[in-house]
Amino acid sequence: MTSDILIARAARKLPITEVAARMGLGDQEILRYGHDKAKIAHHAVAALAHRPRGHLVLVTAINPTPAGEGKTTTTVGLGDALNRIGKRATVCIREASLGPNFGMKGGAAGGGHAQIVPMEEMNLHFTGDFHAVTAAHNLLAAMIDNHIYWGNDLDIDTRRITWRRVMDMNDRALRDVVVGLGGVSNGFSRQTGFDITVASEVMAILCLARDLDDLHKRLGRIVVGYTTDRRPVTARDLKADGAMTVLLRDALQPNLVQTLENNPALVHGGPFANIAHGCNSVIATETALRLSDYVVTEAGFGADLGAEKFLDIKCRLAGLSPAAAVLVATIRALKMNGGVAKEELGTKDVAAVTRGCANLGRHIENLRGFGLPLVVALNHFAGDTPAEIQALQAYCARHGVTAIPCHHWSKGGAGAEDLASRVVELVESKEADFHNLYPDSMPLWQKIETICTRIYRAAHVEAAPGVRAQLELWEEEGHGRLPVCIAKTQYSFSTDPDLRGAPEGHVIPVREVRLNAGAGFVVAICGQIMTMPGLPRHPSAETIALNDLGQIEGLF
Ligand code: ADP
Ligand code: MG
Repeated sequence: MTSDILIARAARKLPITEVAARMGLGDQEILRYGHDKAKIAHHAVAALAHRPRGHLVLVTAINPTPAGEGKTTTTVGLGDALNRIGKRATVCIREASLGPNFGMKGGAAGGGHAQIVPMEEMNLHFTGDFHAVTAAHNLLAAMIDNHIYWGNDLDIDTRRITWRRVMDMNDRALRDVVVGLGGVSNGFSRQTGFDITVASEVMAILCLARDLDDLHKRLGRIVVGYTTDRRPVTARDLKADGAMTVLLRDALQPNLVQTLENNPALVHGGPFANIAHGCNSVIATETALRLSDYVVTEAGFGADLGAEKFLDIKCRLAGLSPAAAVLVATIRALKMNGGVAKEELGTKDVAAVTRGCANLGRHIENLRGFGLPLVVALNHFAGDTPAEIQALQAYCARHGVTAIPCHHWSKGGAGAEDLASRVVELVESKEADFHNLYPDSMPLWQKIETICTRIYRAAHVEAAPGVRAQLELWEEEGHGRLPVCIAKTQYSFSTDPDLRGAPEGHVIPVREVRLNAGAGFVVAICGQIMTMPGLPRHPSAETIALNDLGQIEGLF
């Protein structure tokens, strides 16, 4: 079997200028980063605004398991397959976080014969966007401590600063730190900490901003902490918003690369999928929609978290309306949802597949609730048996959905043509009647309850002391119309990661709420959420190196 990195290395890439030209973008409209990467220039993005949009297709999945589902792989495979059947399709996915690659994570560029290239660069520094986010975020942090050092005119309460620092590295030692030690000239000491860059609100802002002006305004609205009389302090109060926008100017331009089959892919932005909305940038999606018949995009985690946030946060804030959804499932993951242990996944077990389908069925109902027509993509793994596949197809047929076995991982776009044809059929049927789960006007607590009961099927939502009063305070301050972003385990509809399948009647505890006034959502934290990962005992960094040809080994 060939590895992802070997397949990617053998890719016959087109010069990026040619990929751009096929989208209708000339040399003046792109900024080249080497031979195989480019950014689409701000002026070119702006000039597209009057064009009609193509069709937006969301790829989402059942709840993730350690067995792997393959959303990105399917997103890329479907994009290539749509191009093969004569549609102009563009893939829109997130950029990868650098730090986790040195732990144990796989790549973020797809897999097998459905990948985006250059995959090593995309998983490492790429075009520097994440470094720009890190810099902009930390500039604001530096300006907070500097403001206090020079007399604290804003009367910031140093115990109530919520803005931390970020770095794109898994480093558990930085989760809690004390800054300002070492004497008078180093400022006032206080406890703070680091998050990984993708967890920064600046990342979420970059992904939701419509243009530079909107970016500037959103950055200004960031709340960094509170004054001693509990009034919010913003980035604009600290006069940091202008300089942060300058640092992010280039990063806001979407990155153009290509699939293994030389079709265009916009890879841009990468907000965390728990404490943020987990989708690629609005700007990239909008740009792709103006340049293509079809745009295929992915949202993080399963459909309960990823699709819900994509639809209720990104689509709501950007005024996007998807035409269809693809729900990815694998026999292996269904078996795990049906109670099979990871070590036993190689054994045929039709009954477990059928049991696991309860999880799939729940996501089908939920997506239908948003008014989206859908198809189930069975991402085929080598060990899948015909009887297991039949069990899945029979389950889907009973629920009025087609389940299509796809072989893009082993065969590229040719292996997903049936899926592509079905997607076109769904889109052309004009069945989509997209609507959000809740209106802007609904009170914040009720929005949280609506998501927990209607999507997660909880019987009850419990607020920690102070949570509801905090939400009411934000409503009084004018933030009541914001959507809600739930941070919760991705492995279950409940807050217990081991409760697979389709649990109901559970209680969801809301531990804490956070206001992301710049990004434009309120985060409700349910359960333990990690914003700075650590490295495993033997991180993959120990085996990553350059070979004699100067190629990267050990990354994937
Ligand atoms: P997700 O986006 O859902 O996290 P990815 O598409 O990134 O998942 O895939 C995760 C991993 O699983 C990748 O390393 C990919 O190569 C592998 N993978 C995906 N589909 C298949 C398949 N059909 N057979 C074998 N491996 C696969
Ligand atoms: Mg993915």
